[in-house]
Amino acid sequence: METHLEHRDIVGVADAVLLEDYTSEKAFVKNLKKRFKENIIYTYIGPVLVSVNPYKNLHIYGSDFIEKYENKHFFEVPPHVFAVTDTAYRSLKEENREQCILISGESGSGKTEASKKVLQYIAEITDHKGSVETVKNKLLESNPLLEAFGNAKTNRNDNSSRFGKYMDVQFDYRGFPVGGNILNYLLEKSRVINQASGERNFHIFYQLLAGASHDELEELHLKPNLSSYYYLTHGDKSNVDNLDDKKAYKEVVHALKTLELRDDERKEIFSIVASVLHLGNVGFTEEEGHAHLSKRDLVKTVSKLLGCSEELLVKALTHRTISANGDVVVTPLNRELAIYARDALAKAVYDRLFTWLVQRLNKSLQPHDARKYVAMGILDIYGFEIFERNSFEQLCINFCNEKLQQLFIELTLKSEQEEYFKEGIEWNKVEYFDNQVICDLIEEKHKGIISIMDEECLRPGDPTDKTLLEKMNNSFKEHKHYINHKKADAKLQKVLGREEFRLIHYAGDVTYNIHGFLEKNNDLLFRDLKDAMSKSHNNIIQSVFPAKEQESKKRPETAITQFRISLNHLMEILIDKQPSYIRCIKPNEIKTAGLFDNTLVNHQVKYLGLMENLRVRRAGFAYRRLFEKFLQRYKCLCKATWPNWHGNVKDGVQTLVNALGYDKDEYRLGKTKIFMRFPKTLFNTEDAFQA
Ligand code: ATP
Ligand code: MG
Repeated sequence: METHLEHRDIVGVADAVLLEDYTSEKAFVKNLKKRFKENIIYTYIGPVLVSVNPYKNLHIYGSDFIEKYENKHFFEVPPHVFAVTDTAYRSLKEENREQCILISGESGSGKTEASKKVLQYIAEITDHKGSVETVKNKLLESNPLLEAFGNAKTNRNDNSSRFGKYMDVQFDYRGFPVGGNILNYLLEKSRVINQASGERNFHIFYQLLAGASHDELEELHLKPNLSSYYYLTHGDKSNVDNLDDKKAYKEVVHALKTLELRDDERKEIFSIVASVLHLGNVGFTEEEGHAHLSKRDLVKTVSKLLGCSEELLVKALTHRTISANGDVVVTPLNRELAIYARDALAKAVYDRLFTWLVQRLNKSLQPHDARKYVAMGILDIYGFEIFERNSFEQLCINFCNEKLQQLFIELTLKSEQEEYFKEGIEWNKVEYFDNQVICDLIEEKHKGIISIMDEECLRPGDPTDKTLLEKMNNSFKEHKHYINHKKADAKLQKVLGREEFRLIHYAGDVTYNIHGFLEKNNDLLFRDLKDAMSKSHNNIIQSVFPAKEQESKKRPETAITQFRISLNHLMEILIDKQPSYIRCIKPNEIKTAGLFDNTLVNHQVKYLGLMENLRVRRAGFAYRRLFEKFLQRYKCLCKATWPNWHGNVKDGVQTLVNALGYDKDEYRLGKTKIFMRFPKTLFNTEDAFQA
């Protein structure tokens, strides 16, 4: 029986580098569409894999496919996430080189699914042996666990990751996985207290209510109905059709066991989850400007679940202690501030629980012995975002994408350069757009947007979003990539409002609304609440609200500075690794199979910088093959090489290209490979791909 793989990949071109008109976005998208319609979701741009979400199960991930891709040369098999993984894995094992697989794309484009396929492939091709099995199970089961706490139903994706994730899989010298380490980025904690219409809170809340036994719920003082909890009543109040919360709860409990969390740890985790639900129901009345608790019993429950003093919690929810010049002043909060404090506590508790969980998993994933290992990293992180209304979160996310683009440029050009050097070919600098200027605009010390924002947050007096925007508008008056409302005139597509500024990102223009920037960046949790938490006897709460934090006079870093620091740390990790890229595309907005929305795909091609990828690739020698392979494939096109060439292979290749009339500038012969700018019409594209 013939399988898919034994057919040549003849639909469109399998590598966009071979498109006749490589500068045309239209031709690029047309090629993707043609393939998508035939259920071929993968296409290359050189070594970069482009994946279009099929929104249906294709039978391309079974053991037959694993077998087909194992140990195959990248360009000898049709594009696939397994080909990318296999190539990376072999380079790791054979050359001992650290790898990273960078997955990007917008929400719902298939990043997380792709990252799971990478992990699945690794798990299946590494030998089945005792201790390796345990590690593999732990690695695989860390996924459903983190998804329960970090994913949610959004309007764009029923299982949307609301955090960025980088996971290292560590291998020993034999190529067996021996451990792992996870880094998490920027959980969307505002979701804990509020959800947009049609969206849900994090999965775990629903899973706990649907899956825990009667006794468990009783212990947590919970009732199994969603409508009882204020924090679950904003968006979508129902269960999601294709999510089985009850089953998922069982999986979470199972995963916790696999990852060796103890029963007491599990209980503490769920106590915290339950406490957040109760906290949402804590209400306040106001008398003469002072907030009072309307349901005192609830605070009792919350304090019990969080293991903290009821008295301290009550006080912290309704008062604020400020110390200035050695004087300590306690002022009552009004109702609005009390609600703010309550919500801030719920967000902080959940956010810190999530980070604790990641660290706890890391402890369990740590390799048993300290021998040297080689790592393969998988990065599943939010793609470039541009909405109707863009805020602080989009700025963080888009900044992250600028940094990743910078890394891409650096690494791609570096690896191109390395290969040319290895092959003894003269290197001509490739012209490309360097987005350093935008990274600087955002993060430059003392001058960039982040610095100005932090300065404004810390400034005494009365800083507001408005004063922040004024400062930014002033500082970047002349900057080419920053547009303020005065600069934006009718020539630009959209005139800016007074609350807006626009950044010209490498992937497109984004208009940000300044509203809420300062508050989000400040990310304030009143001291009294932290104090109450740090004295908790729930071990998790105590460890995530360390008393040290209270004692320190230093103000904690602002949200965006923390993010910048963790991003730069990530860049340091990635820069030393050999990268592979997976760029994911969402074909339509309605999560439907078979539907390819041209406009939507065009946008993503732009925001993912794919045309830029293609240009960089084509600016050098896009096509390269080992002499032997090249000669073998095309010897039939020249009398002198057909049926067999008896001399040295390099001479044979030279004879062949001479006969074909290639211009000198069009190709180079290295030590082992021929490099071509573009194999022209000589090859029909499928042949070129199969060469
Ligand atoms: P987010 O940024 O919101 O986390 P994402 O890029 O991680 O989005 P996924 O959760 O991976 O998106 O994919 C969304 C949905 O699309 C999946 O739940 C699944 O239904 C479908 N999907 C994605 N990739 C594939 C695939 N290769 N085959 C079949 N279905 C897929
Ligand atoms: Mg995801």
